[in-house]
Amino acid sequence: MSILAGVLGFPVRHSKSPLLHNYWIEKYSVNAYYVPLEVSRLDFPEVINTLPKMGFRGANVTIPHKESALEYCHGVSDRSALIGATNTLKFSSDGAIFADNTDGYGFAQNIKHCVPSWKASAGPALVIGAGGASRAIIHALLEEGAMEVMLVNRTKDRAEFLRKEFGAKVVVYDWIELDSILSEALTIINATSRGMRGYPDLELKVENLRRDAIVNDLVYTPIHTKFLRDAAKRGCRAVDGLGMLMHQAAAAFEIWFGILPEVDGELRRNLLRK
Ligand code: NAP
Repeated sequence: MSILAGVLGFPVRHSKSPLLHNYWIEKYSVNAYYVPLEVSRLDFPEVINTLPKMGFRGANVTIPHKESALEYCHGVSDRSALIGATNTLKFSSDGAIFADNTDGYGFAQNIKHCVPSWKASAGPALVIGAGGASRAIIHALLEEGAMEVMLVNRTKDRAEFLRKEFGAKVVVYDWIELDSILSEALTIINATSRGMRGYPDLELKVENLRRDAIVNDLVYTPIHTKFLRDAAKRGCRAVDGLGMLMHQAAAAFEIWFGILPEVDGELRRNLLRK
């Protein structure tokens, strides 16, 4: 019988995860199907407890279930607990549910893939945004050896909350200070919704960026955000958000199927065509 996996979200129609995983399922001849599962908040507890009994080996979790899913799990990885959210669930045959989070891994792998010489310890990182994605990025930066993570969020309280959770290496600044601290950072990450289709662009004084800075936008719709275009014009190395999406998915694929799939150019082209 084929193994099943899927993505739980609401809405889930826009998700690129089925394309990603089914590409690898075919490429590595895994006897499996990966399906989108549109599940409301109300139905989530019943669905998550039923999937293991239906032949599902695991599932990705996306908005709005990333935090609440942890309540229904029997085990939680250290990184998932620290991040306070899960994006990958693994089901065992006895029905037990284990939560992990591969977003931070996906972020770090993507930067290393695009800029092999990148070292988080080389200089301060600046994270813009303090939502769920930001938590995964901060965790990954600290794991990778960052000595200082400058954090800025429109709502400062949320950034202060993260500083308390992640400790003194995280330093919080006001939103209005953003342009003036750009010159201090070697790695700059947009972890806000700014730049996404339907949201205002992230407009920064890019002339303040170091020319040797690496600038990463987590937004991938559109792929070339104004922030990335401006940074590239300045001479910075611009890394888009699609790579993180592919690398976090690769880690989930390995958790379920035991194969770490290659993040290749054909997959990227397929995703851009969708
Ligand atoms: P989230 O938890 O909803 O957080 C949203 C963040 O954006 C908050 O920091 C919020 O600030 C900020 N924000 C929203 N509108 C803003 C505005 N007009 N001006 C300034 N700040 C604004 O979302 P998330 O899950 O962290 O996702 C954040 C971004 O990362 C999204 O664009 C998402 O698509 C992307 N993402 C990409 C990947 C990938 O694989 N590439 C993975 C996960 C997420 P406040 O706290 O002030 O509201």
